[in-house]
Order: sequence, then C-alpha cells, then structure tokens
Amino acid sequence: MQLDNRIGKEGEGMNPPIPVTRSSMPPLREYIEEISSLWESRWLTNMGAKHRAFEAMLKDRLGVANVALLTNGHSALECAIEALGLGKDGRRKVVTTPFTFASTTHAIVRRGLEPVFADVREADGTIDPECVERLSGDPRVCAIMPVHVYGTLCDVDAIASIARDHGLKTIYDAAHAFGMEHAGKSAAALGDVSMFSFHATKAFNSIEGGALCFSDPALVASFDRLKNFGIAGPEDVECVGGNAKMNEFCAAMGICNLRHFDEEVAKRRVVAERYRDRLEGVCGLRLLPLQDGVKPNFAYMPVFFEGDAPAVRDAAMAALAEAGVGSRKYFYPLTSEFACYAGHFDPVATPIALRLSRQVLCLPMYADLMLEDVDRICEIVKGCVQ
Ligand SMILES: *Cc1c(COP(=O)(O)O)cnc(C)c1O
Repeated sequence: MQLDNRIGKEGEGMNPPIPVTRSSMPPLREYIEEISSLWESRWLTNMGAKHRAFEAMLKDRLGVANVALLTNGHSALECAIEALGLGKDGRRKVVTTPFTFASTTHAIVRRGLEPVFADVREADGTIDPECVERLSGDPRVCAIMPVHVYGTLCDVDAIASIARDHGLKTIYDAAHAFGMEHAGKSAAALGDVSMFSFHATKAFNSIEGGALCFSDPALVASFDRLKNFGIAGPEDVECVGGNAKMNEFCAAMGICNLRHFDEEVAKRRVVAERYRDRLEGVCGLRLLPLQDGVKPNFAYMPVFFEGDAPAVRDAAMAALAEAGVGSRKYFYPLTSEFACYAGHFDPVATPIALRLSRQVLCLPMYADLMLEDVDRICEIVKGCVQ
C-alpha cells in the first residue's frame, strides 16, 4: 500500500524523503550581516563581541542572573559537575535517569562519579520523585541530575524539596527545554544549574553550543576558568581547566536564531497540534500529556507504541522508512544498557524506563514540516497499530 504512492513515472507521485529533524536557520543574508564584522575585527573566538552579545541576549530572554556559553551541552554538563565540586566531600553518587541521551550519564561517569538510576514516571518519562526520594537516603549521594525529556518538565517542586531535605545539589539536563516556563518562571532558573544544548538538532541551535544558567555569582569565575584552561590572567592559571569556549560564528548563529525562536515555536505548535489531532485516542498509541501551567517548546514528537514492544515500534519505524520518512528510537537503549557500562548497572531495576524505551519512537518534528506530510506520517503510524 505505502509503496503505491511512490511508484510512477519519474517525479510523479513520488514523495520527497522527510527527515526526523531539520535544523532551524536564519535567512542567509541575516547571518552574513551578523558575521561581517568578524572580517574587520579578526576576533574569531575567546569571548569576543558576538559571544558577549549572545550571552546578554540569553540572560534577558531566559530571565536568569547568569549565563555561561560553552562549545556544547555535554562540556557544559561536565563543567557544571566540576564547578559545583560534586564528589569532593567523598559523596560520589548522583541520582539520575537512564531514560536520556548518552551525555547525561557519561558526564557523571567522566567526572569520576557514580550514577544511581531512579525509574521514570509512566505518564511522561521524567524522573520519578518517589524513586529519587528513596535513593537520596543514601549518605553517599551528593546530587540529583534530572532531565526534562522531550520538552516535558520534571516534577520540579518535588525535586527541589528532596534536594533541600537531603542537602543535595541539582543540575538539570535541560537540553530539550529551551524557552520553556513553569508557572510563569523560566525553566532555566531551576536547580543550582540548568544546562541547555544548542546542538543543530535541538529546537534552538547555535550550530553546536551549550549554556549553563545559574543564580550563584560565585560560579561565574569557575565557568570562565573551566572553559578556558583555568586561565585567570596573562600569567595566572588557577585550575586545571579544559577548552570549551563558544566561538564567534556559533554565537552569531545563536543571535540570529534567537530572533526567530518565537516564530519557530509557533510553527512547531501547529505541527504538534496536527499530530495530536490525528493520533490522540488511537488505540495502542500514547502521546505525552500537555502539562498544566507549562509553556511548551514542541522540541520533539515522541509516540509510544503500547502493543507488543519493541516489535510494533520497530515495525512502525520500518514502515515509515519504507515511505521515506525518518524516525528515531530516542531514547533506546537506556544508558544503563550501553555496552560501555556492561556489568555496572541493572536495567531491570528501572522497569518503567525499560518499557518506555521499547515503546518510544520520535516522529519528524521541525518548524517547516508540511501538514500534508504529518497526515501521511500519521496514516502510516495508524496502519501499524490497527
Ligand atoms: C543533546 C543532548 C545533550 C548534549 O548536548 P550537546 O550539545 O549535543 O553536547 C545532553 N543531554 C540531552 C538530553 C540531549 O538531548
């Protein structure tokens, strides 16, 4: 059936391939305009004018006291762990979720700490506060690292109260949550530090890039040092820092994309609503709930295939691929199942995360996705569950 519309004379009845994501880009002229001053200044990196301007724009936009810009979200996470001094007092465990991208778990392990996996909530895939509470009783736990998966915010009030009760730091992996708000408050202002990724595939991008948002002014100097070899002055190296500075071309891309971000989200909303209209209530399929009091960003379009998992999900992915439609098993496998962690963790200890990872498929989502294409995608998906 699906093949039928693709067969025909050259160029007739053929649907062009649909990728799972497509990076947002400003009009070319706008970007050229933005970077043209770099040909005069010849200042291409090391906290130049674009870097400073982008940082200021983000502070304003995200409503936070401090923003540190870095090369990417992953380096940002590692810097956050280091700057907060996690593990220094001998407590080396971090409560986190295995239902995430590799980066969250790797950052903890690469900083010499030990992830302790809490399960997630069936309803929305975010870390389950009850599991966090239980695991936080261990005196070796120093921090919580939750993830706002797909642009669904965690139960941030419950997490804040657990962190307070147990004296834990909180670093939010907010890679998916750019521009979101909770009860009128910016998602960037949650926890001790919130990390955003501006990777090309995210709802907001600076080609590659990352940001740390935080209120504690003492952290400003820490991040400045950690991302620039520990250099504090021409003859003064204070700590063993790495190199994670955002360059001027990425900052310029961020500046341009930020001007268009609201427009982007508005277009994504239309796409998301079309998907919901076509897929909500379909037997065997589950969509993430819309959250009360949350301003969404429509970063991803995950659907959960509730039938025989992972067979139904995998069949849907194959049927979409057959029709030239990209999709992504995101997040699958759990990070606790990665080959590099073999023998270290027990994925069965987080049964809900395990189940969701077998059910989930992210469907194409980007601002310019055509509604006719969404309809076609939804017909294929429905064909796999009916
Ligand atoms: C993209 C992503 C990261 C890493 O960000 P990069 O900018 O690619 O380094 C971390 N966590 C999650 C959940 C992500 O999706």
